[in-house]
Order: sequence, then structure tokens, then C-alpha cells
Amino acid sequence: MLKGKVALVTGSTSGIGLAIARAYAREGANICINGFGDKDAIEKERSGIEQEFGVKVIYSGADMSKGDQTEAMVVETIKSLGSVDILVNNAGIQFVSPVEEFPPEKWEQIVAINLSSAFYATRAAIPGMKAKKWGRIINTASAHALIASPFKSAYVAAKHGIAGFTKSVALETATFGITANAICPGYVWTPLVERQIPDTMAARGLTREQVINDVLLHAQPTKQFVTVEEVAALAVYLAGDMARSITGSIISIDGGWTAA
Ligand code: NAD
Repeated sequence: MLKGKVALVTGSTSGIGLAIARAYAREGANICINGFGDKDAIEKERSGIEQEFGVKVIYSGADMSKGDQTEAMVVETIKSLGSVDILVNNAGIQFVSPVEEFPPEKWEQIVAINLSSAFYATRAAIPGMKAKKWGRIINTASAHALIASPFKSAYVAAKHGIAGFTKSVALETATFGITANAICPGYVWTPLVERQIPDTMAARGLTREQVINDVLLHAQPTKQFVTVEEVAALAVYLAGDMARSITGSIISIDGGWTAA
């Protein structure tokens, strides 16, 4: 379905981004993966995707908290793979703390990675998409783009911000064959969720089991974590031609969380 396309997925060495990169490769797209982690493990993943799906996969170690590195990653992908047809702004981090104790440097980092990186990557990718009259911009937002939780002020602010950014980009690019949408997952079991459990235990005075059942799954009427494969399947659909009329949409995949 995506043969001949090039997809750049930020934050794709783990979790949701990795599942999206793998799903696009399965559909025949060449891929640029990005993110941090063990060098050997990343190379194993990169070459593994190439071999498994018979596509070209490059890796960029660009730091999504740095605008210049983010833009350079897009330029590098176009140089190496010919274009960026599908851009998934997915890199993100979390930090859990009461707002009056929230470290300013954590606030700045979350806004830079979870919001501003999408701006820098999108502005670098749009000229090429406009020239080809085809493009897909998919932003991994969150249920926290629609509603708030306590102790996640920076994350909630950045995710609400990316929902607005998505809508503006969609309006600006609507006549160029480009769509821009935000995917809003509920809780997906990934390292990002696992890492916030100790801080949530401390902030709320709860045990690990209480955090999982009474805080995380409590939010989701299905009482199930969303899986990375489910999010990736939605990202594949949005990248396809049949999704050409879906633009500026903020799409929930959250087990009913935001319906409540
Ligand atoms: P994850 O921790 O498994 O993956 C995050 C990825 O981002 C990793 O590849 C990491 O290396 C990369 N990354 C972090 N900082 C970076 C930086 N400065 N530069 C480049 N890459 C960087 O997390 P995940 O759960 O897969 O999260 C992916 C996205 O999904 C995030 O935007 C997150 O906010 C969003 N999300 C996650 C959930 C969830 O429950 N897991 C729910 C809603 C939204």
C-alpha cells in the first residue's frame, strides 16, 4: 500500500514509534527511524526491518529537543531516500510532578520534544510534500490533548498544543494533497508508561498495583491497555489514499477514556 513512499518516524527506537515504523515498512515504505538507545540494539533493529520487509531503512540520532537537528534530519532523509512523504511526529517524554515543584528544565524539555519538534520537522517537510502534491503528517498526541490529569502539566500543555498545531497545518495544506491529523492514544503499555509509575506512586502515595489499576486503567472503560499494534494500524490507515479526506482530525484510540 505504501510502496515507493518514504516515512520518517521520530522517536521510533521504542514503543509506539517503532511499531509505526515497522508497520509502514511492512506496507513497503522506505523508512527513517529516529530516537535514542543502545547503538548496537538500534542497528540490529534498523537492519532487521530492512531484511524482514525488503525496504531501505536509515537511522538518524537527531535530538528532537533541538530544532536545528530536527530540520537537518528531514533534509538528510530527503538526500538519502529521495523524499519525506509521510512524517510521523511521535517523539515524546513524560514527567510527573505537582506544578509548583515542576522543574523548569523539565517543562522546557517536554515542550521542545513533544511540541516544538513537530513544528521544526513539519516546516522542513512541507515544501517537498507540496511539490509532489502528496503528503501525510501524523502527530502522536494523546488523550491528554483533549483532557487533563493532575501532575502532568507540561505534557498536557504540549499535547493540547500539538492538537491545535495539527489543525492549523491541515488548513494550510488542504489543497495540496496533504493531510495532517493527530492520533490520541489512551494508555499504551510502553517504556514511557512504565517509567512514570514510580513518580506517580510518590506523587499520589499509591502502590504499583494501585497506580496500574486505579490510575491508569481506571481511566479506560475497556480496562485494557491500548496496544502499539493498534496505534500503528491507525497510522497505516491515515497514510493511505483512502484517508485523503481525513484532515485536521484529532482521533482518539483510548478504550473510551475521553467518552466519559
Ligand atoms: P517510548 O518511551 O517507548 O518511546 C519514545 C521514543 O522517543 C523513543 O524512541 C525515544 O528514544 C524517543 N525520544 C525521546 N526523547 C527524544 C529526543 N530528545 N530526541 C529523539 N528521540 C527521542 O514512549 P511511547 O509510549 O512509545 O511514546 C511515543 C509517543 O506516544 C509520545 O509522543 C507519547 O507522548 C505518546 N503517547 C504515549 C502513550 C502511552 O500510553 N504510552 C499514550 C498517549 C500518547
